[in-house]
Amino acid sequence: MSTTAAPTATGFAPAVSAFLATALHKSYVGGRWVEATDGGTFEVLDPGSGTKIATVTSLQKSDVDRAVDAAVDAFHNSGWASMPVAERAARLHRIADAVEARIHEFAQVEALDCGKIYAQAVGDIQNFIDTFRYFADLSQAVNYRQVIAVKKHEAWVTRHPWGACGFIIPWNFPFLLAGWGLAPALAAGNTCVLKPAEDTPLSALYLCHVVQQLDLLPPGVLNVVTGYGETAGAAVSQNPRFRRMSFTGSPEVGRLVAEAAGRNLIPVKCELGGKGAAVVFNDVDIPETAQALVNAITFHTGQVCCDATRWLIQRDIYDDFVGECVKRMKSVQIGYQFDGGAQMGPVVNAKQQARVLGYLQKGVADGADLVLEGGAGAVAGRNGFYVKPALLAGSLNNVAAREEIFGPVAFLASFASEEEGVRLANDTEYGLGNSVWSKDLQRCARVAEAFRAGNGWINAHNVIVHGVPYGGIGKSGMGGGVVSPETLDDYLRPISVVRPL
Ligand code: NAD
Repeated sequence: MSTTAAPTATGFAPAVSAFLATALHKSYVGGRWVEATDGGTFEVLDPGSGTKIATVTSLQKSDVDRAVDAAVDAFHNSGWASMPVAERAARLHRIADAVEARIHEFAQVEALDCGKIYAQAVGDIQNFIDTFRYFADLSQAVNYRQVIAVKKHEAWVTRHPWGACGFIIPWNFPFLLAGWGLAPALAAGNTCVLKPAEDTPLSALYLCHVVQQLDLLPPGVLNVVTGYGETAGAAVSQNPRFRRMSFTGSPEVGRLVAEAAGRNLIPVKCELGGKGAAVVFNDVDIPETAQALVNAITFHTGQVCCDATRWLIQRDIYDDFVGECVKRMKSVQIGYQFDGGAQMGPVVNAKQQARVLGYLQKGVADGADLVLEGGAGAVAGRNGFYVKPALLAGSLNNVAAREEIFGPVAFLASFASEEEGVRLANDTEYGLGNSVWSKDLQRCARVAEAFRAGNGWINAHNVIVHGVPYGGIGKSGMGGGVVSPETLDDYLRPISVVRPL
């Protein structure tokens, strides 16, 4: 049950207003609020208005190392790791309850911090709640002592938490991704250090306030370290006291984190970028499918790792289909994230705005046709980072068809046969999520299974369901993925015990 209503553009819940009035947002370490030893800070902006909303502590390596020490200490001494599984699961449900009771507070913080349309922010908070409940329940069904029947031996496998786990996450789904990382690790009895992106640290800090106020976790079990990627993020990735590492973000930084964790022989999960394709066959309902793809590429202003960014359309419906898409993209309402009529908000910062606009220029310079112009967007009275949706078309060797743009820009191309559609979809270094669109469900199943990617979706895009493994291959990721029973298993350390008979 929520306790606060959705905000107007000016009105936040009292608890959120008090939080936003904090002069300095500190990091949360060992159950206490800490500043950087050198007093460093950074500023956080509202992407929709460009105005400053918070000053946040910028930790250095030695500060982050102390947070890892706190997590290691809590692992050994707080009772969290040795707590009966059902009791730990009940604690995770209490966290879910607490967030659910404040769902609009969290959504206000999240929408303000990352420029997300308010209703979409509510969906992200709900997803966090669902993730905590999913892993709390799943943790009670694990076989923690599995007897193995083998000839002439007594044998069994027991499963234990690993220890302190590190998490580095990006700015596009800050709270949802915090849930995907923290919930399985905590459910398995590990302790955590989370490093949010410097653009969007506020919802994770708000969670720490709630956890502290309601005494939901022993001190040191959850630590949130704020700071820049090159300093605080690098310090997390390099710390040898972690037992598991998880990174979500760009392939470029993923490589650095995986290298650093690899040097310490720490198992690492990487959930990275994407360049997903939608393969559209000629038997689809054209308006309906065009609308679905327009919805996908404009959802969170295209800042979605698994988005449909390459639209491959069977040749005989290409012109009709593109016409429908152009019409529908032109009518997308761009607006401030708290304005009721807005369908697409800003991108996260000026750098991301320049990146999206730059790819339009680079794509055209590389020979693409500009089917829908795009460009910088404007919202009356708001000096935020807005871009308009755009469509490019042409050879898939184009830079804008090969590289991740992370904005509301799709690249169009046509194909003749099923074989060609699959081949074009798979011609990328990425491998996260592709979709196939057709009334012929046998063909859909065939094409979905032929994708070289972690996920194949049928007549839908961006479908992530608790219980179904979600991960990427190639430049989209490695290490096992998220939100499934396998994820919980990743946070449990097995030991095989054998006695010859
Ligand atoms: P990014 O790689 O720039 O940053 C991600 C995180 O890494 C941030 O917290 C940042 O501070 C930190 N970081 C930066 N430099 C670091 C360093 N040298 N060492 C350690 N940490 C460092 O990514 P971004 O721009 O924040 O996010 C966009 C990217 O994330 C896109 O590529 C997107 O596709 C990807 N993404 C993937 C998934 C998925 O599930 N596969 C989900 C969301 C986003």
